Amino acid sequence: MSTMNTVGRPTTPNAVETKPATLTGARGLLQDEALIFEVGRWDVTGVDLPAPAGDGSDLGDLVRRDPIGLPGLSEPEAMRHYVRLSQKNHAIDLAIYPLGSCTMKHNPRLNEKMARLPGFSDIHPLQPQSTVQGALALMDSLAHWLTTLTGMPAVALSPKAGAHGELCGLMAIRAAHEAKGEHEQRRKVLVPTSAHGTNPATAAFVGYSVVEVAQTDDGRVDVADLAAKLGPDVAAIMVTNPNTCGLFERDILEISRLTHEAGAYFYCDGANFNAIVGRVRPGDLGVDAMHINLHKTFSTPHGGGGPGAGPVVLSEALAPFAPAPWIVADGEGFKLVEREEDEAAQALGRLCAFQGQMGMYVRALSYMMSHGSDGLRQVAEDAVLNANYIKARLQDLMSPAFPDGPCMHEALFDDEWLKGTDITTLDFAKAMIDEGFHPMTMYFPLVVHGAMLIEPTETESKAELDRFIDAMRALATAAKAGDADRFKGAPFHAPLRRLDETRAARQPVLRWTAPEGSNAAA
Ligand SMILES: *Cc1c(COP(=O)(O)O)cnc(C)c1O
Repeated sequence: MSTMNTVGRPTTPNAVETKPATLTGARGLLQDEALIFEVGRWDVTGVDLPAPAGDGSDLGDLVRRDPIGLPGLSEPEAMRHYVRLSQKNHAIDLAIYPLGSCTMKHNPRLNEKMARLPGFSDIHPLQPQSTVQGALALMDSLAHWLTTLTGMPAVALSPKAGAHGELCGLMAIRAAHEAKGEHEQRRKVLVPTSAHGTNPATAAFVGYSVVEVAQTDDGRVDVADLAAKLGPDVAAIMVTNPNTCGLFERDILEISRLTHEAGAYFYCDGANFNAIVGRVRPGDLGVDAMHINLHKTFSTPHGGGGPGAGPVVLSEALAPFAPAPWIVADGEGFKLVEREEDEAAQALGRLCAFQGQMGMYVRALSYMMSHGSDGLRQVAEDAVLNANYIKARLQDLMSPAFPDGPCMHEALFDDEWLKGTDITTLDFAKAMIDEGFHPMTMYFPLVVHGAMLIEPTETESKAELDRFIDAMRALATAAKAGDADRFKGAPFHAPLRRLDETRAARQPVLRWTAPEGSNAAA
């Protein structure tokens, strides 16, 4: 059977399976690559250093007798190793990364240039404060714009990810209840069923018991259920807005009113702030604490899972409990208050060593300043427009989870449209890889059966969206036509085929051991 793929080349669906494996393990010009422990040798190094003067060390008996076992590579070998690995992976500079609830957007090169200015990149956190006034001024400006954009009086910059920001927010909430003598009675945190897993995990980590709040048929918090569960035993609610179904919480003002009436605090998960930045100020919604993922809304790179940055904005009620360090302008310049003293007498302690992710602060501020207030507003508008374009162009073939009305920054489909095809969301996602696209978020939020959550972000052009949509339409049509082989065996063209993900999660192999008799490092 021959069909046309999205770039118009005729393809034979399972051609790759019938071709012989290559003799080297490479595919075309894509190299096969072993682990660094296997390619490296402990006696090789990328730099030539003169032999040390003297004949020993001061360590006496403690001096190491065996090689340290780290793999050594020359500079070109090291470069090739990592470039080969990078080719096996997906990257935002290669194509759209449509993961929902992740906001994988282009990382502007201007941000990188700013972050590499020596005054930001070559400083050390232990330098005297008088020598890093520029860096402190930058942190102060970032704090100013984060509080201005959110309409909140204070921000704690140091948390290093969204989840870490949640921890910061809930610890501030606990500190506030402790200060009022109400901590012992308020042991519950209310979390809607559609919440990101980090919300209940954080609440449990801080020592609260988690109570689920139901969701309405149109994907929002069930306010009646929330009201019934609020009471003198509740410390806080954690609500994501826009929520993980990609929908604005219509009753958000009522939700915050009820919460405050019950003496609880409103933690807002701000991971989706990119959908409303410049248009809605969370402070006006009655939010008490909200993290902002700089690696989502403000375009800093996600990297290999980091470094992230999750500053937390705080209301008047929670601001005194913000963790150290605090940056304070004292007329002479800026100073860091490092402990629970002076201005920060009620600080909840520290969340990390030093001041947080300086390089990410520079990138985020660079993004804000290059856009300006009108540009940031357009960020939100374009992110929402792009998601609605995807929803509109796919909804005749795929089933939107919440068909009524527009979505915010992400389009959510369920697997209703795959009924009777024997193809699952997972199969469909694997086939997307063969077509050159990273899959969308799958099976999240949990409240939607076989969920497919697609977030394009504002940095995708219409041409790129069309490329993605055309591929999705071609795949959806093939699925409905009963071409199950294309999906069940996918991916056919990726460096590795279908993996045993359950086993990988249950029995992870985290330690490499050298094969017997090998001369590999270690
Ligand atoms: C990404 C995300 C988080 C967690 O943020 P990290 O920076 O990955 O720790 C929490 N909630 C929601 C809704 C998210 O999308």
